[in-house]
Amino acid sequence: MKRYYINNNMQSNGDYEVHAQGCSFFPTDDYTYLGEYYYCSSAVAEGKRRFPYRKINGCYYCSRECHTS
Ligand SMILES: [Zn+2]
Repeated sequence: MKRYYINNNMQSNGDYEVHAQGCSFFPTDDYTYLGEYYYCSSAVAEGKRRFPYRKINGCYYCSRECHTS
């Protein structure tokens, strides 16, 4: 399992990105821990539960199967 976090700073395209621990694009200043999951899809679902008004997307580099935009 991996630890997943959501970046609390919005990307330029309006997305909030979910990252796994160890990603080279991991947010450094403002992020929220989402939990440990086998799949990034579970982390994205948890992010949507906690932040229902955010457009949430997996990071292209560490969570590519959850990256949609
Ligand atoms: Zn990442």
